[in-house]
Amino acid sequence: MNFKQQLLIQLNAMKTFLNCPSIIHDPPHVLEDIIHGHPMPPKHFGLDIDHDGIAWITFDSPKSSANVWNEETLREFNHLLETIEHDTRVRALVLRSAKDRIFIAGADIKAIRSMQHVRVNDLIWLGQAVFDRLARLRMPKIAAIHGACMGGGLEVTLACDWRIASDHESTKIGLPETQLGILPAWGGSTRLSRIIGVRKALDLITTGKLLNASAAKRAGLVSHVVPAERLEMIARRLAHEKRPGLRFRFENLFSPVIGYLAKRKVLEKTRGLYPSVTKAVEVVTHSVHGEIESGLLRERNAVAELIQSRDSARLIDLFFKREEANKHPAPVGTALPILDATVIGAGVMGAGIAHTLASRGIRVLMTDVTNDSLARGLERIHGLVSDATRRRLVTKVQARDTLDRISTTHVPVPLNRHHLVIEAATESMELKKKIFADLAARVSADTILATNTSALSVSDLAKTVPNPERVIGLHFFNPVHRMPLVEIITLPETSPDVLATVVSFVQKIGKTPVVVKDSPGFLVNRILVPYLMEAVRLHESGIPVKDIDEAMLEFGMPMGPMRLLDEIGLDVAAHVAKTLASAFPDRFPHTDALDKMVSAGHLGKKTGQGFYRYENGKELTTTNHSDLPRHESIQTNLALLISQEAMRCLKEGIARNADDIDLAMVLGTGYPPFRGGPITFARDTGIIDY
Ligand code: NAD
Repeated sequence: MNFKQQLLIQLNAMKTFLNCPSIIHDPPHVLEDIIHGHPMPPKHFGLDIDHDGIAWITFDSPKSSANVWNEETLREFNHLLETIEHDTRVRALVLRSAKDRIFIAGADIKAIRSMQHVRVNDLIWLGQAVFDRLARLRMPKIAAIHGACMGGGLEVTLACDWRIASDHESTKIGLPETQLGILPAWGGSTRLSRIIGVRKALDLITTGKLLNASAAKRAGLVSHVVPAERLEMIARRLAHEKRPGLRFRFENLFSPVIGYLAKRKVLEKTRGLYPSVTKAVEVVTHSVHGEIESGLLRERNAVAELIQSRDSARLIDLFFKREEANKHPAPVGTALPILDATVIGAGVMGAGIAHTLASRGIRVLMTDVTNDSLARGLERIHGLVSDATRRRLVTKVQARDTLDRISTTHVPVPLNRHHLVIEAATESMELKKKIFADLAARVSADTILATNTSALSVSDLAKTVPNPERVIGLHFFNPVHRMPLVEIITLPETSPDVLATVVSFVQKIGKTPVVVKDSPGFLVNRILVPYLMEAVRLHESGIPVKDIDEAMLEFGMPMGPMRLLDEIGLDVAAHVAKTLASAFPDRFPHTDALDKMVSAGHLGKKTGQGFYRYENGKELTTTNHSDLPRHESIQTNLALLISQEAMRCLKEGIARNADDIDLAMVLGTGYPPFRGGPITFARDTGIIDY
């Protein structure tokens, strides 16, 4: 039998299976055992039935910091529900977790990734059936959420009557499935809109965002937010109350209209490049009314289709690459904890870095040359903190603690107690060399000296200090609080302990580290510059700005190259381009176009004129020249350049491997994640010999 025939048989089997009208009551054969099989002692759960008749189910997977749903945990949970159904003493159920920072992290994606599609479908069926069994239990059911409650972790709680949450910063609640190219299919797409209304449900599911406890309360997702120690008391109280039932949601009557508008908005934003999001809108809006079963069936049909797509596979791969970079220590060397840091320079980057560090519990001393510059830096930090407080991303106490951790000085002070210095002063080699030479005299011998330079040579800077093995590049991206990537630039002399410490530090402040070698433009700018310069050249050859930008938006870039240049500032872009042109004259020919605009004072958005015109920071509308065949050729040309430079970086060993390059480009530039990154794109499309 050839592959095509096998596929057809498999597809037919799946079609029959998925079209089955009432799958909950008519399980596929393979799963009958699981649902009706013999109970076994649970490994992942504890069950205590107390004197009040409350069954406390505690999820606590052994030898793991996380709880996840997979065949084994779903099976065990199912048997516990069966036990509870038959135990006449039980009058209420509380689901909780024994982990420090995780309630339930969702489905075991690692296991799913290695499964055949038919088995994935079985697992989806199983989760739906088990959570449906929970929903049907005729007793008050309370989910006491402390820590991350995501995907399947939230879906199980939607089958409960109450969700209560701890106010701890680790409590994050949401359904991020669409970010992996799939959708919530364990009842989440069906039940959420019935609980919080279709508009909020669509917002949560299509963006995949995670809410902290107070935002979840405002959304109507949880009923109580209390300190973790009080969760048990509240749960006990609710266990004695009457089950609340679902509130009538007037807006749900208009779900077809809301769905239509939401789909239009989503298509405008994603240009149809993320089918999981559009599909989620359809499933959610169609499943608001009627039997739960028909909603569940829609979820299964949709997810079965999405999970087979290459896009979803790439998004899931990328998720793992990021997890790996976020968690894995450096392969050699010992990481020491960093509790204090000095940030030199209180400008855009210095203030941004100081704010990020302080918000992650690190004490920061921020320095600059004058009190005025420090005051401007502090003002910027206050702005960031109050914005986060207004948007309820942090509590008032957390905001105050962040500000309390920052001190400032404009006079030289001894820094020998500080473990790390991050230099983020004006981009000038002469100035930075002076700062480094001066620092060497004021820090202790084991202080790590890092620079945030965009394009200067870290090796040249290291020559100014007696112990170059302590020098490293820490390249944050702008705006620091939003951009998840930090390039760590190493030198041949960098000590393994310094690298290990810095990798762990970047992870601790919630950023994703990618280790690269010191080389002009490091990794991300090196790959980005030829693309931006080619866009400028295309424009010089007569192609309208808007066509170039449209072409790359259709490719999936979050912003077209011309607009990006305006945002970066044409002076800054010209400077970086020049550095690269002198390092690689054969491939990065210098173009005069940017220089001319800079000398005319057209620096981009900041001066009101760049490739676009702006008034009060807003772009003045330009006419849209839409020329689709032209877009295609621009796209191919520019996308090819990105992948070519990425491949060169790989061959030159600038990054450790292809995964790091793909990840850095997605996180550092917004390269379309569903394409997997420029190297995956080159491999999948065959545009370059891989
Ligand atoms: P900026 O002009 O906003 O801030 C620089 C600050 O350094 C100013 O406040 C200045 O007073 C201060 N400074 C000058 N000399 C000093 C000294 N001797 N000691 C202490 N402070 C001193 O610049 P920025 O955009 O924050 O950039 C800072 C560094 O970060 C540069 O190396 C830049 O290349 C790099 N960088 C910038 C971006 C970006 O998008 N802006 C992104 C990544 C990296």
